[in-house]
Amino acid sequence: MKDNMPNLNELKQMIRFCENHAKIYIYGCASNQEYLLKYFDCCGVKIDGYITTYSDDRELIYRDIPKFTLDLADLEDAGIIIGLSDKYYDDVMPRLHKRRCTDYFLMSEFNKKAIANTMRPRKKDDFGILVQLAEHCNLNCQMCCTFSPFAKEEFLDTDIFESDMARLAELTNKQLRRLFLQGGEPLLNPLIADYTGIARRCFPNTPISIFTNGILLANPPSNRAETDFWLSCKETDIEITVTRYPIDIDYEYIKAKGRQYDVKVNIFIDVNYHESPEKFMFKPALNSHKNASSYEFITCFFINECNVLKKGTIYGCPISANIEHLNRYFNLNHEITEQDCIDIYRANSFEEIAELSARRVPFCGYCELSNRDYIYPWKLSGKTLNEYFD
Ligand code: SF4
Ligand code: SF4
Repeated sequence: MKDNMPNLNELKQMIRFCENHAKIYIYGCASNQEYLLKYFDCCGVKIDGYITTYSDDRELIYRDIPKFTLDLADLEDAGIIIGLSDKYYDDVMPRLHKRRCTDYFLMSEFNKKAIANTMRPRKKDDFGILVQLAEHCNLNCQMCCTFSPFAKEEFLDTDIFESDMARLAELTNKQLRRLFLQGGEPLLNPLIADYTGIARRCFPNTPISIFTNGILLANPPSNRAETDFWLSCKETDIEITVTRYPIDIDYEYIKAKGRQYDVKVNIFIDVNYHESPEKFMFKPALNSHKNASSYEFITCFFINECNVLKKGTIYGCPISANIEHLNRYFNLNHEITEQDCIDIYRANSFEEIAELSARRVPFCGYCELSNRDYIYPWKLSGKTLNEYFD
């Protein structure tokens, strides 16, 4: 997950600054400022143009808006977002003051880079995809972000998986940063070796990982099943990543099996593990009114990071990909629209998929990012709605 999310308080101040001015300009028009414009577009903030120090005729990639040199820009009632790198301040500030402009918003260098990094669509070899081999799970944690405690027992059909992998390989020219096979709990799927074989045939050079809670690795159903599983991972060059929960699991046994079969095993300790063995969960902090502030989405650690492929459709995050489980269990109606996902069979190019991942989708209106904290000690789900809503 990302550790470079923009600072939410600064974003809030920047949006307020925009709301208090009749006209808003962005200072600078290079790629980082273009992605800043894209962010403002996602927030519904109108930008009136770029300001540059000197005349600049470079072609705009994201979209065309007017460009003005500072000496010719109409600055009456205008606010300027300083999107340029800090290294230009010493040159730009005297020029602004010479034009008697003091209505500017100084972004932190961190937010400038973090916004551009999140709004920039990824290249194929920097793009990861998660595929769920089982919707349900054998652990049922509270606040599970795939809503597995509420899912009916369901395994992904191997024919659908094979077709989806072939189409994805076609769109990406068999290049992906990583393919994650997960769930729910993927090892509940008795055909796990079939999926890994298909995935490896379609993506011969892509790192492929199985994400598991490890319960079935430490307690395999039989010696035969255990041997077959580890051998298939070895043959298909699949890595195992085990998320560590505070449950009674012999992680040393799992690591030893990895060594025995020459399969890479990662025991994943989340970023908030600190020195404590306690695992913390985050509450997704949903609302039912789809009215979360539009500028918050960019602080979501799923954005442009956790793309989920589910039965031919790619979603930008596990929350939107799996909301069907919560909707069904509690008879809710959090809607998925055509703008929230993309059908890989209708997509004309990989770039259309990458673009979906790097923007706010309507479903983000259900997520109150300012209330999302990693402070809830792990425990089993009580299957109540307050695990997800404030
Ligand atoms: S182990 Fe993972 S998938 Fe299973 S319930 Fe817990 S968080 Fe959800
Ligand atoms: S819908 Fe948007 S804000 Fe909500 S979890 Fe997904 S990416 Fe994040």
